[in-house]
Amino acid sequence: MNAVEFKEVTYLYPNGMKALNHINLQIPIGTKVALLGPNGAGKSTLLHHLNGLKVPQQGTVKIMGEELTKKNANSIRQKVGLVFQDPDDQVFSGTVLEDVEFGPRNLKMTEEEISEVCLAALGNVGMLDYKDQAPYHLSYGQKKRVAIAGILAMKPDVVILDEPMSYLDPAGQDDIAGLLQGLNFLGKTIILSTHDVNFAASWADMIVIIMNGEIIATGGTELLVDEE
Ligand code: ADP
Ligand code: ADP
Repeated sequence: MNAVEFKEVTYLYPNGMKALNHINLQIPIGTKVALLGPNGAGKSTLLHHLNGLKVPQQGTVKIMGEELTKKNANSIRQKVGLVFQDPDDQVFSGTVLEDVEFGPRNLKMTEEEISEVCLAALGNVGMLDYKDQAPYHLSYGQKKRVAIAGILAMKPDVVILDEPMSYLDPAGQDDIAGLLQGLNFLGKTIILSTHDVNFAASWADMIVIIMNGEIIATGGTELLVDEE
């Protein structure tokens, strides 16, 4: 089964901007996908179709075999976690642990389960030692880790990251790259947008290049090597 299937998906903003134009895409479970393209290409619009922030106006999106519609967008969101570009949009609670607990609590997990998944998620991102700290004391890269933990704690099948490297210095970028490398060991499908061709070439199994709302190439990392 594919984790993600887009069939002929087209999306127009109210002003008539065609942000996605007949998108067809299949992503097998467990794949690490890097979505590359210039600003305005449609990357964010495509990612928002993966977790029901947007539903297709034309065409179909299936997540883990289930078609995304307005009605089931909430159930899809339990399978797909979106890490926002800016962790300050996502990390806001009193302590790091409380922050990570927010999602699982919404999912009505038991207290025992919440504690278990949140401590495990903080361990996965290397932030367990910070669990009782206030998020606003953390560095930007550490907040990003906490935001990723908050998504992992909800045990999604698919993790989406919108530009995970943005606003980080090179050391912070290496740090998040290492973290993303490790996450795949948990068997997750990971889909991220990035401008960083070197990172994409070193990390991804599958490259998707989008321009003007159209996928112009999909394939392995040889796509990037050949372009040089
Ligand atoms: P990317 O993430 O690759 O930068 P986006 O998906 O954000 O691209 O945007 C794709 C196109 O849709 C761009 O031309 C952008 O200006 C336009 N767009 C994005 N959001 C809106 C909106 N809310 N209203 C109108 N146009 C939009
Ligand atoms: P990203 O970096 O995630 O692609 P953008 O900087 O393209 O985000 O867009 C930031 C916000 O502005 C988004 O909510 C997007 O929907 C909106 N937006 C982008 N382009 C337009 C546009 N041409 N008209 C109206 N809203 C837009």
